[in-house]
Amino acid sequence: MLKLYNTASRKLETFKPLLPDVVKVYTCGPTVYNYPHIGNLAAYTYWDLLVRTLKANNYNIKRVLNLTDVGHLVSDGDTGEDKLEKGALREGLSVWEVAERYIKIYLDYYRDMEFLPADVVARATDYIDEDMKAVDLMTEHGFTYETSDGVYFDTSKFDKYADFAKLDLTGLQAGARVEFSDEKKNAADFAVWKFIHEGEKHEMRWDYRGRPGYPGWHLECASIIHKELGEPIDIHTGGIDHIPVHHTNEIAETFAAYGHDLSRFWMHCDFITIDGQKISKSLGNTYTLDDLNERGFSPMDYKMWLLSGHYQGTRNFTFESLEASKQRRLNWRARIAECYQIKRQKTEERCVFDEILAAVNNNLNSAEACAVIEQSNLTLDDWKKVDDLFGLRLIADTPDITAEDYDLISKRQAAREVRNFKESDEIRDELLKRGIAVRDTADKAIWYYNI
Ligand code: AMP
Ligand code: ZN
Repeated sequence: MLKLYNTASRKLETFKPLLPDVVKVYTCGPTVYNYPHIGNLAAYTYWDLLVRTLKANNYNIKRVLNLTDVGHLVSDGDTGEDKLEKGALREGLSVWEVAERYIKIYLDYYRDMEFLPADVVARATDYIDEDMKAVDLMTEHGFTYETSDGVYFDTSKFDKYADFAKLDLTGLQAGARVEFSDEKKNAADFAVWKFIHEGEKHEMRWDYRGRPGYPGWHLECASIIHKELGEPIDIHTGGIDHIPVHHTNEIAETFAAYGHDLSRFWMHCDFITIDGQKISKSLGNTYTLDDLNERGFSPMDYKMWLLSGHYQGTRNFTFESLEASKQRRLNWRARIAECYQIKRQKTEERCVFDEILAAVNNNLNSAEACAVIEQSNLTLDDWKKVDDLFGLRLIADTPDITAEDYDLISKRQAAREVRNFKESDEIRDELLKRGIAVRDTADKAIWYYNI
């Protein structure tokens, strides 16, 4: 039985799909204007685990991931530079080129992290028509008003606006800065569509209401979900930073345009820190996968580190703890190599995968699942299922040896038994050349990959 913590109810709930044949999952994806740092990749690792866990429970899934290539302003609100424009300025490229460049980089990183591909990867700029239709609908239903800056959502018209994030709207109103009160009716009101002013540099622009403009950040997710999945969906995921603004506003827009709830379950991951500090450019700790690689760590070592903890915990990354995760993965691979040998000896073992899955089914407790793996004997079949569940490239990186190599190991053993150490040493060297090391114990020789 799968249990997930639902941000909407603030409770651990038993997961039940809304429809019998498909589980609809949506992940708020990256803004494609810069390299993903390891914090960004943490979120997508947890949601990859979610999808893999649903699959292990035999659910059929339709999963959509969006790529934000327009409308996300530096403030996460309605002020400040557009992140894509900022990237374009930094790199001397057009915003469209910046988007192309970082979409490719993101998708390469996702492949390196062994994330299962989403069924639909949706670019925000491919849904502008849907955005405009949604603004029309919200307006028709009385939820918007126009200012000189754009079309704004009137949060006072949606009486559940504060519920999701348990917002204190009165406090927000009292603390609102003066400039917001000019044209905005309420402090929490937000732009569903932004106008581009005379002389303003904003390369991505579409004509709407007789003026150039672009969609407000949150609208893309409401539009993509409406078109690709149909609301309500089963599970919507994001970082905890999405709760008070981005997801709150997606919910409001969906209700205002279509009259529906957006999602049954909401899941949010906490942020990782590095050496006890938040990840930031100014601290020089925005490590990428390439930075980890330079220090001798693979994407799978990092994934192992993430899976050794819990998505809702504030996790502190250090290179020492990454080294421990790298060693854990090597140890798991050595255990897989041992399984190949046990299989050849046709010894049956207890199947423990059900216990591992039970741990993950408890709100994605991968740390507990790792503890079960550490304490149990797994069969080769268990390891294959663990690899499907975690996506750690354990089996692909640890193939069984060939019959020829196995023959060599047997010959070496036979030479040792008759004390022909010259021959056994020669065979050992040949095996080492093939990447296979042999360790002799009292009664048998154990081989493993020379990694
Ligand atoms: P962005 O591409 O800038 O929209 O960032 C994508 C998402 O990555 C953010 O909204 C967060 O949910 C997530 N994120 C950013 N920093 C961290 C971090 N240090 N730990 C975990 N998740 C993070
Ligand atoms: Zn979103």
